[in-house]
Amino acid sequence: MAIRSINPATEEVIGEYEPLLDSELDRRLDLANNAFRAHRSTGFGARAQKMIRAAELLEADARKYATLMSLEMGKPIGEAVAEVKKCAWGCRYYAENAERFLTRELVETTAGNSYVAYQPLGAILAVMPWNFPFWQVFRFAAPALMAGNVALLKHASNVTGCALAIEELLSQAGFDGGAFQVLVIGSDRVKDVIADSRVAAATVTGSVGAGRSVGSEAGRQVKPSVLELGGSDPFIVLADADLDRAAAHGVLARMQNNSQSCIAAKRFIVERPVARAFTEKFIARMEALRVGDPLAEDTNVGPLARDDLRRDVHDQVERSVGQGARLRSGGHIPSGKGFYYPPTVLTDVEPGMVPFTEEIFGPVAPISTANDVDHAVALANDSRFGLGGAVFTGDVRKGEEVALSLNVGCAFVNEIVKSDPRLPFGGVKESGYGRELSHFGIRAFVNVKTVWIDTEPAPLDGEHVSRLDKVVE
Ligand code: NAP
Repeated sequence: MAIRSINPATEEVIGEYEPLLDSELDRRLDLANNAFRAHRSTGFGARAQKMIRAAELLEADARKYATLMSLEMGKPIGEAVAEVKKCAWGCRYYAENAERFLTRELVETTAGNSYVAYQPLGAILAVMPWNFPFWQVFRFAAPALMAGNVALLKHASNVTGCALAIEELLSQAGFDGGAFQVLVIGSDRVKDVIADSRVAAATVTGSVGAGRSVGSEAGRQVKPSVLELGGSDPFIVLADADLDRAAAHGVLARMQNNSQSCIAAKRFIVERPVARAFTEKFIARMEALRVGDPLAEDTNVGPLARDDLRRDVHDQVERSVGQGARLRSGGHIPSGKGFYYPPTVLTDVEPGMVPFTEEIFGPVAPISTANDVDHAVALANDSRFGLGGAVFTGDVRKGEEVALSLNVGCAFVNEIVKSDPRLPFGGVKESGYGRELSHFGIRAFVNVKTVWIDTEPAPLDGEHVSRLDKVVE
């Protein structure tokens, strides 16, 4: 069956792609293997030149790539341009730092020379989501390629156009001949690719279901994997916070990227003395957002990416209300073309209700009230996810204590959760394992090799023979 890309603002089919035949998939895996042999032996300098060229191509054609993203998944055009620029930043960051991150580390031992070497693994399969169609790919590909690995991308089906544009761009930059290839395949063929001996490792960014599937197959094949999965990030507002700032940042944290971000604020936890005031300010800002055509410059919020996702979100709102949450704004499917859903606010949300047990991947802000700081932290940690979390407070020391108490991979004080190439990104619990970005990201897919060189081998004597009795493992 053809893979289709549908414009979520107009519901028109804008692309149809035939999945790879088995023979073509096989050819691409061979190509990846051959490319690895050549690519791994290039130096950091040569790879960095190509990576900088990729950054330049991204910057030169930022609007073209941004428009493609907006058309395929509905992201407001301004945010899409910013995403392309962030990809260029990621390319430059790894071009400048990869060698430093992977340089040999000398370790003093009884050997004349011993060190840790970081060596590439081979072809890495990346299974990627549609919500940041460029950034998710570049934050995997830039470190992987700089480390000397080659990349295979199975992108989300609804952004196949973006996938092919990235392949062309990286090829133009010099990552050609199979160093970076798109596999146009459905998710049902991912397991077979992981199992193939020509594939060394796998990474997935997506839902917990996709993570379980990729992670379990990688485990079965004894191949390394990184799982960047869903989240239900808490956004804590303490009684001493600047409420206008907290409300403004809260709306941004929930609604950025049409509310479809793994690190979006998905549960608002507000200390009781300021709960009413914060909620009023927050609702006013949510209702002021302009929902509409993602290609219009003044649009704040576009459509959701697919109709099934919109139905899921609406079902979650209805079930939350059925459990006792109060619908304060939004909460209906509008008539007309496009998969739009209004900014929605729920209050009186308690543990055990849908916003605490599921990830809501849409424009829904559930607000809960906390009795004090400890209660706020307990509510925040009452989740099967552990990706990010934010706390807003007038007391940064208290904020830091809260940040350290959150069971998450990234905690922010007086700032929304965001990714930055210089800092590791990833989660705990069902949000996954492993880290992307920073030096942790580039070391995710390398062989951390111990090298021991006895530079002055002593003659074999009784002492050496008796060493056979000693534990060496
Ligand atoms: P998804 O349905 O899991 O899809 C993600 C990717 O996985 C797509 O390429 C998809 O292919 C593939 N896939 C789906 N099921 C699979 C399976 N059983 N085996 C192998 N591959 C499979 O997720 P999504 O709806 O695109 O994205 C939303 C989710 O991603 C949310 O939970 C969000 O929080 C999470 N996310 C996490 C991060 C992070 O860094 N932690 C970042 C962004 C998004 P098809 O498109 O062909 O189905």
